[in-house]
Amino acid sequence: MIHEESFEGVGLSSNVYVLKSLEGFCIFDASGHPDLLSFLISAGIEKDRILGVFLTHGHYDHVTGLVSLLGANIKAFINQKDRSLLESYLGPREVSDISEGISLLEKIGLKALPTPGHTPGSTCYYSEGERLLISGDTVFADGYFGRTDLKGGSDSDMKASLKYLSALEVKSLLPGHGNYILDGGSKAISLALSNANYLL
Ligand SMILES: [Zn+2]
Repeated sequence: MIHEESFEGVGLSSNVYVLKSLEGFCIFDASGHPDLLSFLISAGIEKDRILGVFLTHGHYDHVTGLVSLLGANIKAFINQKDRSLLESYLGPREVSDISEGISLLEKIGLKALPTPGHTPGSTCYYSEGERLLISGDTVFADGYFGRTDLKGGSDSDMKASLKYLSALEVKSLLPGHGNYILDGGSKAISLALSNANYLL
């Protein structure tokens, strides 16, 4: 996990998660770092072993670093509902729909779960075996949820997504911002759901 604070001087940035399998690395979110690729290489991640990058949504603090990865011919995936959001920051890019990356996700034991609310194409990535959830800006480890007042946000979708996530068994919760937790993920999600039902 690369915490957002590692990216000094780049402004608002997301966390980045790197999952390793026998075949190589999968990257989750691309941060606000304009040269994420060099950062990853300096952290010991060989460029040729990166299988793909999966985005949780299209906001600029999660996608800016994508340009450096695409420049190295690394495949990128986003829910198509967030494609125009991504392209509003990066211009037209070769980014595939997550449905085309399913087999890659399966190799590392993850499923893509559509969780709209923060943005229309917000997506979480879940490992049932590991009880692990990469949650983007949908739910955070402190029991709060992402903003719904930005363009494309929806209060009712957020509440429905949190309800859906609260039915999963989650130990490790790896959100797009702030700290991650390796235990008690479900508790944080339940708290976020009750906070959302109260606040939205
Ligand atoms: Zn966001």
